Parts: sequence; C-alpha cells; structure tokens
Amino acid sequence: MTKYVFITGGVLSGLGKGVVTASIGKLFQFRGYTVDAIKIDPYLNVDPGTLNPIEHGEVFVCERTWRFRPADGYEFLIAEIDQDFGTYERFLDKDMDPSNNITSGQVYLAVILRERVGEYLGKTIQVIPHITDEIKRRIRQVAERSKPDVLLVEVGGTVGDIEAMPFLEAIRQFRLEAGAGNTALVHITLVPYLETVGQLKTKPTQHSVRVLQSSGLQPDIVIGRAFKELPDDVKRKISLFCNVPLEAVISDPDLEVVYELPLVFEQQGLGEYLCKLLRLSRVKRIPELYSEWERMVELFKTPTEHVKIAMPGKYTLIADSYISINEALKHAGAHNGVKVDIKWIETEIFEEDPGLLEPLLKDVDGILLTPGFGSRGVEGMIMVAEYAMEKRIPFLGICFGAQLFFVAFCRRVLGLKGAHTTEVDPNTPYPVVDLLPEQKALKFKGGTMRLGGHVVIIRRGTKLYEAYRQERIVERFRHRYHIMPEYVKQAEEEGLVISAVDETGRIINAIEVAGDQWMVGVQFHPEFKSRPNKPSPIYRAFIAATLRHKKLRARTAAQARS
Ligand code: GLN
Repeated sequence: MTKYVFITGGVLSGLGKGVVTASIGKLFQFRGYTVDAIKIDPYLNVDPGTLNPIEHGEVFVCERTWRFRPADGYEFLIAEIDQDFGTYERFLDKDMDPSNNITSGQVYLAVILRERVGEYLGKTIQVIPHITDEIKRRIRQVAERSKPDVLLVEVGGTVGDIEAMPFLEAIRQFRLEAGAGNTALVHITLVPYLETVGQLKTKPTQHSVRVLQSSGLQPDIVIGRAFKELPDDVKRKISLFCNVPLEAVISDPDLEVVYELPLVFEQQGLGEYLCKLLRLSRVKRIPELYSEWERMVELFKTPTEHVKIAMPGKYTLIADSYISINEALKHAGAHNGVKVDIKWIETEIFEEDPGLLEPLLKDVDGILLTPGFGSRGVEGMIMVAEYAMEKRIPFLGICFGAQLFFVAFCRRVLGLKGAHTTEVDPNTPYPVVDLLPEQKALKFKGGTMRLGGHVVIIRRGTKLYEAYRQERIVERFRHRYHIMPEYVKQAEEEGLVISAVDETGRIINAIEVAGDQWMVGVQFHPEFKSRPNKPSPIYRAFIAATLRHKKLRARTAAQARS
C-alpha cells in the first residue's frame, strides 16, 4: 500500500521546496523504498510550456510524453512540466511521468469539459466536491500507475494563496480517507534572520502554520529554511507554537552543494521519524546506499581546479531559468574534478556595444550558448558564437544555441550575409534555420513543439561520438525550428560536420567544427538527463575541453613571459 507525504510551503515562494521534497524522497530510498513524486501547480496554465522562464523558471522536459484526455473527444499532448521535476529526477535518479504534474488548469479543464459532454447531467458543478474529487482522483491515479511505496505530493505556491485552496481542501479530505499512519504533512517555512537583533525569527512560521490550520491541516513536521542551522531555542519555540514535537522541527540551512540536503536531514533523524509516522517497518537506512550518496557529495565538495564558463543568453536575470543547465555543468565539473564558475551574460549589451565582447569573454575557459525563443538578445548571441569560432574557445550550443552557432557559421565562414533563423527574421535572404515542415500548419502553441525523448543517431569519428561512445542514444527535445540540410551541404565543404541526425535522417541533431577546435551544437537538451551520479556525456566532454583549453592558455602565457 502506498504511503503519502504531502509537502506545503509558507511565508514566501522560492524556499527550495522542490529540493526538500526530493531530499525527503531520498531518505526513503536510503531505506530501499520506492518513491514517486507529484507536483501540484495551482496556476491555470494547462502546463508550463507557454510560461516565460524569467517569471517562472525553467520548463522541464520529460522523456515520455503524456496524452492528457480530460473528457471524451479531447486530447492534449503534455511533455513540458515544472522545473521541480528536474530536481526530482536528479535526486531520485528516476524518469518522471508528465502526468505527475497536476495543474489547476488541467483540473478545471477536465471538470468543465466533462460537464459539456454531459457527464454530470442534472448536477451543479462546484469546487467542492467536483474539483476536489478530481484532484484526489489524479493523485490516486499516479499511485495506481506507479505503485510506489511512498508518494510525495508537493503543493506549489504558498499557503494562503487563493488558487491553492482547493488543493489544501483535497489534501485534508485525502488524509481523512487514507486513515492514520498512511499520510504525513510536512510544512516548509522561512525563518528569517534579523540583523539588527542578531536573531532568527519564528513569527512568520507561526503565522503560516496557523493559516494551514485554518484549512483544517495540522503539519506533522515543520522544516525551517534559514541561512544556518536552527539553534535549539528556535526549534523549541517552533515546536511549542506550531504544535509539533521537538524532533519534528527540522533545519534546512543554506548549503554549498544542494545534494547534501538528504544527509543533513538524515543526521537530524528525519528519515526515521517519517518512517515511524508512516508505520513503515524499515526504519534503519541501508549503509551502502547512504555512503554511496555521501561519496558523491564529497566529489562535489572537493574539486582541485576550477573553470569559468560564460552563459550568454537573455533569461539570465534569474538563475532558475536555466537550472538544469547549471546543474549539468556542476555534475560534469564534479566528475572532472573541477568547480565550474558560471558567468551569466545578457547578450543585448553586445548589440549596443560590440566592444564589450573582448573584455567580457577574454578570460572564460568555455562558452555555453543557451536555448531560447524569440528575438531579444539574439544578434548578441550570434556575435558570441562568432567570437568563440575566431578565438577557438570551447563552445557548446544547446538547441537555440546550436541553431545560432549555425547562423554564425553561415555568416562568417560561408559569407552568407544576413543569414538567419526565420524565427527571428522571416524575410532573411538565407533561411538557414527554419520551421520543421510539420510545424508550418500548426495554429496552437500549447504542447505543439517537437517534444520529449527521441532517438539520436551519432556519426562515428566525431566529438559527439567521442563523448557518448554509442551510435544510438535517446535525448530530449523541445523545438519547432531546425537547421536546414540544404545549407549544411555547403557548410560541410568548409569544415562543418554533421555529427548526429534523427532516425529518419531528416532532422539534423548535432553539428560541430572539424579539427581540434571543440565547438559543438546539439539540437537536443542533454541537461535534462544529467544526474549528479551520471553526468551528461556531452557536458562532461565540454568541461574536459575547457580544462584543456585553460591549461593550454596558461602554458602559452607562460611561454610568452619567458
Ligand atoms: N526557438 C527554437 C526552436 O523552437 C529553439 C528552442 C529551444 O532552444 N528550446 O526551435
């Protein structure tokens, strides 16, 4: 029988609830239990695919796609889900299913469409019970499909948000129906530090627990997010005022390596406490599983070198817009023994002043050109690709970044002035990147890109092959445009290599420059499959190239001095 752990958040958003949820899942995995996770997003979008990453953080892409059939005769394709699923996949080392992301949009859509097709004839459709029933049905559906020992259910947003109310009510009902010992409720809050008095303050936590209680929910565990460990007196205060035992008040301090959080929780006895609460018999962790994770964290903490990677793009105002890329770089770094320092650069500044390229990029060891959409900052991104080509800086272009690398190659090497992607310049004389044929007739934007896991066929003898050492891999995609084969033929004569195509041979999946310069562009998103214990092969090869480049540069500089 599946046990349920519900996770809510209080005080403010951005507390790292996803990392807490995933870390709690890890505690069960340390004991040999199977885990799955649901994320509830109270917004009205059906999926986050149409959301702006600056507002909401990265859109994560699953390996599998899901045909969401809310009512008879209706079907929507879903593969784009909340960024927290990236965190779950990285911590739990497990491919998640897109139907584990429940949004208000999906819940309301299903209920309203079912009303239209006549499923509730004669009834008044209401939030309680119809919306709450649909929420509970969706949660149970995941449990029935994947049959985990423990199912984590993270509720997005903050308690007190109007749109989250039906979810909290559904959880209240769910807990009652599931019976004692089958569910646990974990509440995460912020414990701010007041500099003037030099104290961690518990009042916001008390208030947010009270808001939760007013929805009929009493947390079993309170996790306090603070810049350091919660001192005993603070824990005692939270225990007393929030009505939870002292051992159920847990610290969630700032950490240099996020993957350490399961260890920090375990040391506070959270794993045992949860198992007892849920009446699970294997209370003790399996030593090998725990020490394996400890060793991995150690790897992240003990780099001997560091490299600086520039990440030019346009969503660089919040680090979360590229979270999977940031993590993939860290994984690749740790497994190369290096710490990766990321330098985010808004490329619009190069459009205003190309003279900034040199000062901002001259000391970087590698450049990662980011994925993206639309035209803001794109000329600047192309300038960066040309700069990398000229200065022979190791370069990895991801999706849009690969397409723009191709644009740069066409302009600079083939001399095709004004070459562009039609996404940015529909009237370009040289449409070197254009819509996939099947995209041309599409009218709707939601869930209509080429999405999810697809087979990639790699050509032997390429840098890509050197990284993967396999001819056939599966990587994840999210695009409408592609590199046009007719221009590639011309480019091949000038030193561009097609290193991968799709199974039909129709879609170019990766390009690189010939010779010893490490410049690779991939149409897929390898970052979505990178795990802390299994870094993405191409990210790993990229970091290795940046390290070689750094050493070479140091040697040349030393020779110049002597
Ligand atoms: N905008 C480009 C496309 O749709 C690239 C997408 C991306 O980088 N994910 O093909």
